[in-house]
Amino acid sequence: MIRLTRKVFTDLAIWMIGLGLIMGIVFPFFVVIMGVPTEQALTPLFFAACMTAGFIVGGVNIWLARKVVGSRLRMLADRMRLVETNLREISISGDTWQCSPEACFIHVDSEDEIGESGKAFNYLIESLAFSHRNDTAVRSFTEMLTSHLELDILTNQALQQLLEHTDASAGAILIAAEGEMKVSVSQGIRSPENVLTSDHVRRALQTEKQVRVTLPEGVVIEESLVDFRPHEIIIDPVLYKGVPLGVIILASAGGFTDEVRARLNLFRQGMALALNNALTHDRLQRLAALDPLTGVYNRRFGMARLHEEFSRAVRATGPLGVMMFDIDHFKKVNDTYGHLAGDRVLIQVAKTARSAIREGDILMRYGGEEFLVILPAASKENAHTVGERMRRMVEETSVADGDQIIRVTISVGITSYPELDVARDQDLVQRADESLYSAKESGRNRVIMG
Ligand code: GH3
Ligand code: MG
Ligand code: MG
Repeated sequence: MIRLTRKVFTDLAIWMIGLGLIMGIVFPFFVVIMGVPTEQALTPLFFAACMTAGFIVGGVNIWLARKVVGSRLRMLADRMRLVETNLREISISGDTWQCSPEACFIHVDSEDEIGESGKAFNYLIESLAFSHRNDTAVRSFTEMLTSHLELDILTNQALQQLLEHTDASAGAILIAAEGEMKVSVSQGIRSPENVLTSDHVRRALQTEKQVRVTLPEGVVIEESLVDFRPHEIIIDPVLYKGVPLGVIILASAGGFTDEVRARLNLFRQGMALALNNALTHDRLQRLAALDPLTGVYNRRFGMARLHEEFSRAVRATGPLGVMMFDIDHFKKVNDTYGHLAGDRVLIQVAKTARSAIREGDILMRYGGEEFLVILPAASKENAHTVGERMRRMVEETSVADGDQIIRVTISVGITSYPELDVARDQDLVQRADESLYSAKESGRNRVIMG
């Protein structure tokens, strides 16, 4: 096998000078054939002159080869060195690839071996640049994924980066929450909720494989999902250990290149792990905050929220209503219908109470069959209205137990800041509890303000 670097020019010199000397030996015989008399041509002197001439031509050839070919090879080596320095610098500094085509690529204008080498060198640089761009994109994506555990922030940031690194113009991330897919974040999608019922999304989830939809130029789409006319849509299910955790949807006006698709594959793998972490975190957060029987906030989480709301009310000198209610004669319910039926009544009361308050109000199970409600921005009158509404709604609700109907009532104690000007949130709870006690004392199934 030929060794690329082994004495190239020495070999060439031996061949050229050797050939020159052979030519010097052959030349006198050639001139004899051409008609020059033998005694003039085949003389030692003429032989010596011809061989010297052959030697000189060989020598000049080798000098020219070095000059013409060697200098070009040196240029190729210089380019390689430049790219190498560039690569070394960016791998240390973490910068992006900045080798301009003029500086790093070789201008190829011949089809010969040198031209071929130049072309191969350019391809090498292109794929180096590609893998470096990929590397940088994946690194920044991974950094983002590892710095967020909150699901909403994570999907938001992930979508921004996906759009940026894939040149997509619109996109969405769907998340599997409580057994069904929900749109967690979207950008440029006309009606995100329609995405959920899209056949392509369903197919991607069923097959657990990426679905690519390309729309040829002439095709008119009646119900476009996005605000522009996409050329290609990618629907990519995100699986963790074979379980679909979400779906990435990206739409591009110009279509996705192979480079972008390869990058998306890498992104998806990181995304699966990060989504799994965020979903687990979300589940744990919820488990830690909710009462397992009724699904309303537990006392620990609810009291922390009361602390926050009280501080906010003090800062803003805004009102804050606190309500405590307790199911009347609940022991009797347990004794008559059994503990399981009692549990169902508790669940139903919590559900009714939840529906009597606003979205931003906080309902917590304070203990046993006693609940505390925080009503941010509710004045004394507002809180009383809510309490009375809740009392009436519970009174009108019933729980079936076989052919029996169980009905319960609640007693409610209410207080409100700053009408009751207290220094600690605990004092509000205590006053609400005292009012609840008064409600019990004065006959139950009633609301008492304190
Ligand atoms: P009052 O009108 O004075 O509030 O009477 P009450 O019977 O409701 O009061 P008491 O505090 O004596 O009884 C509360 C009962 O609630 C006793 C307890 O067994 C029951 N209880 C507490 N937590 C649960 C629960 O999670 N499930 C069930 N089924 N019962 C519970
Ligand atoms: Mg009770
Ligand atoms: Mg009680």
